Amino acid sequence: MRALVIEDELKTAAYLRQGLSENGFVVEICTDGEDGLHQALTVENDLIILDVMLPGRDGWSILSALRAAGKQTPVLFLTARDLVRDKVKGLELGADDYLVKPFDFAELLARVRTILRRGPGRQPEVLQVADLRLDLPRHKATRGGMRLDLTAKEFALLELLARRRGEAQSRTIIAEQVWDVNFDSDFNVLEVAIRRLRSKVDDPFAKKLIHTIRGVGYVLEERPE
Ligand code: CA
Repeated sequence: MRALVIEDELKTAAYLRQGLSENGFVVEICTDGEDGLHQALTVENDLIILDVMLPGRDGWSILSALRAAGKQTPVLFLTARDLVRDKVKGLELGADDYLVKPFDFAELLARVRTILRRGPGRQPEVLQVADLRLDLPRHKATRGGMRLDLTAKEFALLELLARRRGEAQSRTIIAEQVWDVNFDSDFNVLEVAIRRLRSKVDDPFAKKLIHTIRGVGYVLEERPE
């Protein structure tokens, strides 16, 4: 497996190189956007890990040029900013997934495996679980055709759960992914957010989709009655 890492922060690049090599990847690093795009277009890679802020050419521009050239190499992008619009933008431009820095290598590897299992091709832009539907580019959530009025954070939280439907998400992972912080000391924020999300997504409907996994976190899935 060949992985191309386009990342200008040498520490992060070295960390990715080491971790990916240990997991059987042949790793090429580019620290400049132009070089990165050139490598992405001319070498067959199984995976590209793409930083957004890069010298020469930014990650967005690399991603659009790559997809415009018909290259469907799976791309996981790294963003330093936990902004919903950044994530939406990356996915709209054809990325397969994203991670917010700083990230755990274990988490990165799990995402990479999911992407590779899914094979080349774009992330579905609509996520559906039972009658819950998330239209990612339009940032629109519906249940049974009814529009759910969600805040940006609520949408990000629901998107995370929907992307990994059926997999329990720990509170730590959710906090990192949705808020980009460790609130070891204060999971109340998360619990309040989940309660609000449930009041919109589940309370008005007979079938509940967000479930608590005691001592772990939450899972979004359709369960038999
Ligand atoms: Ca950077």
